[in-house]
Amino acid sequence: MNLLDGKKVSEKVLENVKARVESLNKQPFLNVILVGDDPASKLYVNNKRKTAEKIGIRSNVIELPAETDENTLLDLINKLNNDDKVTGIMVQLPLPVHINKNNIVKAINPKKDVDGFHPENVGKLVLGIEPYFYPATPQGIIMLLDEYGIQIEGKHAVVIGRSNIVGKPMAQMLLNRNATVTVCHSYTSDLDEIIKTADIIVSAVGKKIVRCKMVKKNSVIVDVGIFRDSNGKLTGDVDFDIVSPYCDFISPVPGGVGPMTIASLMYNASKVYE
Ligand code: NAP
Repeated sequence: MNLLDGKKVSEKVLENVKARVESLNKQPFLNVILVGDDPASKLYVNNKRKTAEKIGIRSNVIELPAETDENTLLDLINKLNNDDKVTGIMVQLPLPVHINKNNIVKAINPKKDVDGFHPENVGKLVLGIEPYFYPATPQGIIMLLDEYGIQIEGKHAVVIGRSNIVGKPMAQMLLNRNATVTVCHSYTSDLDEIIKTADIIVSAVGKKIVRCKMVKKNSVIVDVGIFRDSNGKLTGDVDFDIVSPYCDFISPVPGGVGPMTIASLMYNASKVYE
């Protein structure tokens, strides 16, 4: 078993992004909008800001009260869209329930949509046309697989989870790289049987779901899930101790996909479109 060391690879990606930023004529300027005071969201946003600054990306966090209405948020996005200094806009999710997330995502200029969630970017991904931005988590996973020289083409990839931010774009990116892709979700029957046929497993559920010892020999397992177990310890979807002796590569939690997501987001934030 070999570890897919996201911490190590993310450091390399960040170094490359830093060099890329230094070579640009225009300094990237990331604006992150945070609505409400959810402590976890605040922590994520601050981590993004700190990492951005370390690698030369200017960043600004705009904090709005939880009762902010949709039109105020749309006006702010419009202002940022029209500000030539601003090269990247992110709205931290989740948003308060009275705000329609789809309206917000749609309002961001696709050339500044560093999350890659705008319908134009998603549509391009599906059509196999280069989008302005790929969603950070699946893009980070592809970077990790590529760094370890893992072949995707012709392999059977099983993606567990079909969220718009991880599962669906992951499946599409693997398909675009010529994998044969199976997408599993909460209605999938016989998940264990499907897992046994996978060359590459990407699990993005948020529950201990990959327990099966019978992962295929030489398979590659990417664990996206991150949550706290009953003892409060951070853990992933994959039962690492049971599964790891049977596979070829596996990503740990923490230290796998998490740092790659941040690095991949910074890669996006370093892109400047005129
Ligand atoms: P999500 O929106 O809650 O989606 C979870 C998916 O899992 C859904 O598609 C759901 O199916 C599926 N699912 C639930 N129970 C299942 C079961 N028993 N068997 C098979 N599939 C099942 O979650 P998400 O935002 O994609 O995130 C997933 C996990 O990844 C979470 O732990 C999250 O914290 C983590 N995450 C980590 C990073 C990182 O950087 N490390 C980034 C993003 C997310 P249905 O669609 O049928 O409901």
